[in-house]
Amino acid sequence: MQTLFDANGHKNVMFDDLSSGQMVQANQHLIIANGEALLLDPGGHKIYTQLFAKTATLVPISGLKHILFSHQDPDIIAAANGWLMVTDAKAYLSALWLRFIPHFGIDDLVVKRITPIPDGGMVVTVGGTPITLLPAHFLHSPGNFQVYDPVSKILYTGDLGASLGQPYAEVPDFDGHIRYMEGFHRRYMPSPKAFKLWAAMVRTLEVDIIAPQHGAIIKGKPMVARFIDWIDNLVCGVDTLEGVYMVPKA
Ligand code: FE
Repeated sequence: MQTLFDANGHKNVMFDDLSSGQMVQANQHLIIANGEALLLDPGGHKIYTQLFAKTATLVPISGLKHILFSHQDPDIIAAANGWLMVTDAKAYLSALWLRFIPHFGIDDLVVKRITPIPDGGMVVTVGGTPITLLPAHFLHSPGNFQVYDPVSKILYTGDLGASLGQPYAEVPDFDGHIRYMEGFHRRYMPSPKAFKLWAAMVRTLEVDIIAPQHGAIIKGKPMVARFIDWIDNLVCGVDTLEGVYMVPKA
């Protein structure tokens, strides 16, 4: 667990040590503003009990008012039913995925507490603070949102910026870090055009930290700018498929 920001009743906490065994390392994030909390991408059943207990040490569970599911993947949303059953929180998920996630076993009663996010995104007020849900479609999911907190100036990028296997929790050197991000971004991200649209959008925001859902955080404006430039120029997904679409031989 790491505190990324803490000032004037506003706190941003990252849980980075709850994944184990075969599951891909994942970060869960909590934004607390004036006693009210927004939990980002709480993940699946195996971490549910620990994450619930740790959240309860930071904010009373009655103060957990909002849960964002950035997209439909199991490491984001598999335990949605549990979270909605034991809290009064409202949840938010791309309108594209609302009819698919009941297959994870989400009760009819609680599915009504999930707000479908329109493609253009929306603003959620957490303890009086406006938190922006930014469109980030095709990065990597077709219906996908990132979160910008204007108080801490943290941009929560979900799978964008994910790194795997790096031996640190905060990037010490951007060039040395690329090797831990590159394979994932080339294969899981479908479109360089989405990269460019995203880069243009986030350059309009003041960002101090990029906090992805997997791996290390990118801290400080110079390194944030390096990351945005790297994404802006990266080839990925549909542009790398030559030679892959071949019928396999027995
Ligand atoms: Fe994903």
